[in-house]
Amino acid sequence: MNESALSTATQPTQLGLALQRVRAAAEALDLPEALCELLCTPQRQFTVAVPVVLDSREQRVFRAHRVQYNTARGPGKGGIRYHPDVTLDEVTTLACWMTWKCAVVDIPFGGAKGGITCNPREMSPAELERLTKQYAREIAPIIGPYVDVPGPDVYTDAQTMAWFMDAYSTVVGHVEPAVVTGKPIELGGSEGRDEATAMGCVHTIVEAARHLELPLEGATVVVQGYGNAGSIAARLLGERGCRVIAVSDSRGGIYGADGLDPVAVLCHKAETGSVVGFLGSKEITNEELVELECDILVPAALENVITAENAPRLRAKILAEAANGPTMTEADPILADNGVFVIPDILANAGGVTVSYFEWAQNLGRTRWSRREVNERLEAVMKEAFAAVLRTSQEQNVGMRSAAYMLGVGRVAETMQLRGWRP
Ligand code: NAD
Repeated sequence: MNESALSTATQPTQLGLALQRVRAAAEALDLPEALCELLCTPQRQFTVAVPVVLDSREQRVFRAHRVQYNTARGPGKGGIRYHPDVTLDEVTTLACWMTWKCAVVDIPFGGAKGGITCNPREMSPAELERLTKQYAREIAPIIGPYVDVPGPDVYTDAQTMAWFMDAYSTVVGHVEPAVVTGKPIELGGSEGRDEATAMGCVHTIVEAARHLELPLEGATVVVQGYGNAGSIAARLLGERGCRVIAVSDSRGGIYGADGLDPVAVLCHKAETGSVVGFLGSKEITNEELVELECDILVPAALENVITAENAPRLRAKILAEAANGPTMTEADPILADNGVFVIPDILANAGGVTVSYFEWAQNLGRTRWSRREVNERLEAVMKEAFAAVLRTSQEQNVGMRSAAYMLGVGRVAETMQLRGWRP
């Protein structure tokens, strides 16, 4: 084992934790030590300087990265993040997660991620356009439809992807929509992408409820984070007869024992900037929210919100991780002891990357699928992935998270062995 890859002295906590889970899965699968080392080592890390002329004519140089964690199963896939806290280690951790996520839903992508250390809220649209296009030109040699396919992430969106595609197309000399996903529909984006993460999450909840023989009609739901993933998941669960009793955002949470109308809450948030203050609701804190008694808890905001400290007080039957990394490693055994059924992030939120794969496939095939076709295919992929993880969990007598890692890591390892990637 390459100790330097795992040492907490040289790795940030998130990457160290991600690799602990990979290593545990590799050991459970009895993989050779050398293969485990390769699985725990990022394949390629690319750092570039991105010079940009600001509107003030001042010249700035931004640091940016693109990491292809493992491309054994296909081109790298993962978003591009614009944030002041972006570091190479963070991007590497996110690329690592993408690797197992793509493998769990069995789409032909490896794991990648990109990021620029910048504060997009302080930049004008024109500055962001210049930054995005220069970044695309800098990483053009190492990306491409068959190499590595970026997409949106924190503080990047369909417009960012449109700029990115334009710059890449100029470099290669022809229009190349398949180089990025998450594009505007007019430029080859897919129907259904906006709802894909939430919809995929809801499919896994439906399957979990079926497995647990928990009727969804009247099931109580708590959602932390009321953005893209959280608000749409709340609406879709409401449409399936669930009772959404509490939701929150960064300003706080609201509770209504008789149920909140998810669409009305979203309108309130659009008008006021927050879910807080919704008519007839009681204010609660984000800390209180995760400890509410409910059937289904959906963390859809930040990392590390379920800890060893609050895990003993969690009273949900199903924990569906729409967010990336909401549960700390130490909380897992506590949740298992308390009988909480965990749908781990690399399964629960894989609907987004699945529809990104559909977008890429449509672009390469020069075709378009209807929203209905996209949604039907998404449902099939999510149900199959859930069944595979549940089967692994039952056969190996492990929790759903360990099972998802065993499935994902096992599939990547198998491809590496077949291709002869022996260290
Ligand atoms: P978003 O920015 O649309 O929404 C995030 C929400 O979380 C906002 O309502 C925000 O107010 C809230 N929030 C922020 N800080 C909070 C706090 N301290 N407590 C409670 N709420 C807080 O983001 P999103 O796209 O919905 O992503 C949410 C999570 O889902 C992230 O972890 C993201 O990585 C993950 N995810 C999203 C997608 C996707 O396609 N959108 C795909 C995979 C994973």
